Amino acid sequence: MNIPMSLPEINDADVQAVVEVIRSGRLALGPQTEAFEALHKDYIGVKHAIAVNSGTSALHLLVRSLGLGPGDEVLVPSFTFAASVNAILFERATPVFVDIEPDTYNLDPDDLERKVTPHTKAIMAVDVFGHPAEWDAILAVANRHHLHIIDDSCEALGAEYKGRKLGQFGDAAAFAFYPNKQITVGEGGMIVTNDDEIAALCRSMRNQGRPEMGAWLEHARLGYNYRLDEMSAALGASQFRRLEGFLQKRERVAQMYTERLQGLFWVRPPVVKSHVRISWFVYVITLAKGMHRNPLIEHLQTLHIPARGYFSPIHTQPYIRELFGDLSGTLPVTESIADRTIALPFHNNLSAAEVDAVVEAVTATRV
Ligand SMILES: *Cc1c(COP(=O)(O)O)cnc(C)c1O
Repeated sequence: MNIPMSLPEINDADVQAVVEVIRSGRLALGPQTEAFEALHKDYIGVKHAIAVNSGTSALHLLVRSLGLGPGDEVLVPSFTFAASVNAILFERATPVFVDIEPDTYNLDPDDLERKVTPHTKAIMAVDVFGHPAEWDAILAVANRHHLHIIDDSCEALGAEYKGRKLGQFGDAAAFAFYPNKQITVGEGGMIVTNDDEIAALCRSMRNQGRPEMGAWLEHARLGYNYRLDEMSAALGASQFRRLEGFLQKRERVAQMYTERLQGLFWVRPPVVKSHVRISWFVYVITLAKGMHRNPLIEHLQTLHIPARGYFSPIHTQPYIRELFGDLSGTLPVTESIADRTIALPFHNNLSAAEVDAVVEAVTATRV
């Protein structure tokens, strides 16, 4: 049995969509990008969707469009993918790391409140592993202190908080389409917002700072080439039409894991709060206190079952230590959790037999 860590689901319609674009000769700045954007706009229920070439690009443009820069503090979890923090650093703003809830591993609203200072300008919230952050509490903190909010929803396309789709919360949100995400285009991302000004700035900055109406060689502001190409957009639109089916398949695989792990007292399956719809990105188990994930990951690897330590906290990474000194010990929940969380193989079409094999290997490797 050769079980992959993750696997995109590509069908003939996806292939056909990409081939048609290549044959058309129109490979950039065309109707496929507009169609892909329109699908997001309608699905999430926002005014604007702007496609870009990665989730990281989406976050970077959002940080820039809010005018965040040197001297501005941005509250962000450390228990996330590096891109959430890097987008802040690109603009020389200061990330201030916030601890997480011990059940969902999303931002802890109490610690968020505690870390607000007169320099705080924004919150970079993350919907970790596809589980919505605690949005009511985060919005309350932001309102009290007049803070902007960027939602890094790069792991949570399709998730809902109290019946509302993620992407509607905060000033703007970002999604991502790397091959391990819920839908993929290879490399790509999407900005969604109801804010006309943010949308206009992001559209301009993804396209070399060109004004929306203007000559090709007119540049209104500093910009980038963060455009999504037409092949990727066509693949994205084709994938997007199967999103609900993908989410249901992922829910089913997660349920299979959770049922089979029930008897293991030293393994905690993911926690899903009752007022959310999770969009399963990865399936992450947590080992009991006192255990460490590395021996288990290594042992699974000897059985040819891939597993990853999700996440490695950003505040203890070498490049952050170089910038801000030794921050270890400052985020007790993050540090305790991150020693014990393991992502198991997870994709739409993982079979019952494969789930059995993974759970059997986990069971046999009590360390
Ligand atoms: C995937 C992801 C991103 C964006 O990643 P890209 O590879 O740049 O598309 C950003 N934040 C989080 C939390 C992610 O998981």
